[in-house]
Amino acid sequence: MTKDTQLTTPVREADETSATRICSNANCEFAGEPQPLDEEHFSRDGRYAGGFRTECRRCQSERTKAYNRQHRDKATAARKRWAQKNREHVNEYQKKRYHDMADAYKQQKEQQTA
Ligand SMILES: [Zn+2]
Repeated sequence: MTKDTQLTTPVREADETSATRICSNANCEFAGEPQPLDEEHFSRDGRYAGGFRTECRRCQSERTKAYNRQHRDKATAARKRWAQKNREHVNEYQKKRYHDMADAYKQQKEQQTA
């Protein structure tokens, strides 16, 4: 980002002709600086004024990343709990998988030695 501040007209929200928007996130790295209201800087979303989200793309992707990080931990924990509760099922599945792999391995071996 270049730091030379262009003389932009004061931002009027919901006015598409002004074509800039200040990100709604207070912790945005562009804090308070209007960004061009286009697809490069904001995601399109018809539910918002001007047809773009109020949060800039950077903030959106940061938030998504944080969300995924949080939920990956949760998902892993849930899977573990499920496996503990369904130990039999998991064991069966692993046994079957082992046999399938062993069969495949045997077949491969036979083909190689044939
Ligand atoms: Zn932002």
